[in-house]
Amino acid sequence: MSQIKSQITGLPPLSLLVADSQLYAKKSLGQNFLFDLNLTGKIAAQTLVQHGTIIEVGPGPGGLTRSLLTHTDADIIAVEKDRRAISFLDHLVAAAGGRLTLEEADALKAPLWSYGTAPRAIVANLPYNIATTLLLNWLDHATDFTSFVLMFQKEVALRICATPSTAAYGRLSIISQWLTQTELLFDIPPEAFVPAPKITSSVVRFVPRPEPLFPCDKATLELVTAKAFSQRRKMLRASFKSLGGETMLKEVGIDPTMRPQDLEIEGFCALARHLEGQIS
Ligand code: SAM
Repeated sequence: MSQIKSQITGLPPLSLLVADSQLYAKKSLGQNFLFDLNLTGKIAAQTLVQHGTIIEVGPGPGGLTRSLLTHTDADIIAVEKDRRAISFLDHLVAAAGGRLTLEEADALKAPLWSYGTAPRAIVANLPYNIATTLLLNWLDHATDFTSFVLMFQKEVALRICATPSTAAYGRLSIISQWLTQTELLFDIPPEAFVPAPKITSSVVRFVPRPEPLFPCDKATLELVTAKAFSQRRKMLRASFKSLGGETMLKEVGIDPTMRPQDLEIEGFCALARHLEGQIS
């Protein structure tokens, strides 16, 4: 093990350092901390980037950051909104021998796709209130990354990875799987966090596809899925009435009596291409 890795494993336990600091968890920042380094190690081991840059969003007290430093040889750029955490993490920056850079910033506004050098990955235990918005931002730049390993509320993770004809299948499943290969890795129980949230969390890995699964324009696909799932229980011919309804669906080769949750991603892309043809 390199000197840096042994310096990091030799640091005092995180829970002791935090107890001695002002870094109590703030609900407004979605702070639920992980102090169990076996668990953070299990998450860090899922990144596909060993060299290059790993961007961590919301390092908080730095449990996952420590594990990223010890489980990979990548440089870590950690983006954190909470100034208290930035000051707290000084000891880790010192131990990391130049491999850890902290940036005090709002991840919702930060262009992470241009950070550091490729190969690039994002790894994060995300603040739940902004997790989906962050994911959708990063999916706009998916090909700039090798992987995302992200923790969500289990319910959101299930929606991301859902297959057709299941209750969880919807807009988030379609856009995520159209641009990336998604894999639900494992759950983390509430009691693993400080403070414990009410819900179970799940870790998802996304591997961006070099090209989207089927050709079509992203904005049109988003419009089509929004329309289809705005009335989840209705047949497609009703949801698409204003866009040509039954006739249009038949032209594309889709059964007008289908419900949106039964239509595969390929079908949504075919609908998007058909509408693009009408617009252009
Ligand atoms: N990674 C730490 C861990 O696993 O213990 C903390 C995870 S905690 C669920 C979410 C972290 O995201 C907090 O440290 C919080 O301050 C930070 N955060 C919240 N909103 C943020 C934002 N808009 N930009 C950057 N960081 C944010």
